[in-house]
Amino acid sequence: MRIVMLGAGYVGLVSGACFAEFGVDVTCVDPDERKLSRLRDGVMPIYEPGLDDLVARNVAAGRLSFASGLPECEAGPDAVFIAVGTPSRRGDGHADLTHVYQAARDTAAYLTPDHFTVVVTKSTVPVGTAREVGRIIREANPSARFATASNPEFLREGSAIGDFMRPDRVVFGTDSEEAVSFLRALYRPLYLLDTPIVQTTLETAELTKYASNAFLATKVTFINEMADLCERVGANVQDVARGIGLDGRIGRKFLHAGPGYGGSCFPKDTLALIETAKRAGSPVRIVETVVDINNRRKRSMASRVIAAAGGDVRGKTVAVLGVSFKPNTDDMRESVALDVIPALQAAGAVVQAFDPAAMEEAGRLLPGVTWAEDAYGALNGACVAVILTEWNEFRGLNFRRAGQLMERPILVDLRNIYKTEEMAKTGFAYYSIGRAIENGVPGEKRNPDGHE
Ligand code: NAD
Repeated sequence: MRIVMLGAGYVGLVSGACFAEFGVDVTCVDPDERKLSRLRDGVMPIYEPGLDDLVARNVAAGRLSFASGLPECEAGPDAVFIAVGTPSRRGDGHADLTHVYQAARDTAAYLTPDHFTVVVTKSTVPVGTAREVGRIIREANPSARFATASNPEFLREGSAIGDFMRPDRVVFGTDSEEAVSFLRALYRPLYLLDTPIVQTTLETAELTKYASNAFLATKVTFINEMADLCERVGANVQDVARGIGLDGRIGRKFLHAGPGYGGSCFPKDTLALIETAKRAGSPVRIVETVVDINNRRKRSMASRVIAAAGGDVRGKTVAVLGVSFKPNTDDMRESVALDVIPALQAAGAVVQAFDPAAMEEAGRLLPGVTWAEDAYGALNGACVAVILTEWNEFRGLNFRRAGQLMERPILVDLRNIYKTEEMAKTGFAYYSIGRAIENGVPGEKRNPDGHE
């Protein structure tokens, strides 16, 4: 089997490398020359655990290669996957399909009448896009022999390879029997693991991806609202989450209260679903509310930090631990850091930050931040520290050392990675999410022996 993957980003590169690992001959095409030259040098353009080894192994085996355009690729692949970006369009927030349609036009020019090819949209795209991709190709190249399919991707950054290799399910939609045979053969290694396959129509597959992300965003937002309520009524959101999550109908995942969801998918996909639903005359009001609550929540987080510091951070140093939207990725898209840090700076704070992977990208997006070499460098001289991303290396901070470095030992833990009892022994004033309220500052009860 031979396939071409259009786009060598998080999804294209990971799925391309994983298909190669299945024994498929894969060429990843990306017009981004910088990305391509790094890949050819064995340097990963993204931070994703295990990806460098997977790519190196498959390149060495001759199953994975890179190209800057389809004309460089051998003719007659069994499939062309479209895995290009679909960001939010300015204005209405609908998915910007410029790259997808460009990929369709590129594909049209590349397909030949003597070989059947399945054109698969793997990008997250609104209902109707795969049919439009088919229309574009047919119009531009009427003699091309092809069928379209939708095969949305559910991998998560940070655990992308495991998610791809052992997914909860594979969803694909198509009208073509030939495309079904191809996709079943391609995913055969997963059949051996008894992975459920949801085979459906193009429209259903496209909507399933949006419904999935919107549901998860709703779950996160629900527990975040419960966290706010816990703070008001003296309850503990982690126990509430456990208490409801153990119910098999609810499930324990995605019930971690925090500063609001971010990332490359939930924010844009919820907006795109809202637009799709509006246009179809069937608004998704729950999702509209989720988006509104989440935006407000992210914007409000800086005020928690300022309140914990005593209400004024003018001229003071604030330490920020973690800026990527979640751990194990360098992805900064819609990260809460992009809300919190500028708001702290606007309040007059000097922000000193550290992230294990995202500082290169964050440096471009967050001017005026002093980037430290490690967590302790960020804590040095700070009047308050805030954990924005739950990287493992922040889970075992040496609070003695941290307390000596900081001007005042105050920690705002927006990811609830520490336990109250543990923090009570450290001498830190500790504020977290959804675990009681004191002195008008949401968060954990203060340590009576604390420095505050
Ligand atoms: P990305 O921005 O990391 O990568 C997209 C790549 O496509 C870029 O490298 C870009 O240069 C390339 N590209 C643009 N136009 C092209 C063209 N005509 N031909 C070939 N390559 C082209 O994006 P991503 O995060 O990989 O997301 C891709 C799609 O997958 C999106 O629709 C996204 O919603 C979806 N998705 C993403 C994730 C995730 O965790 N990132 C998970 C599931 C689904």
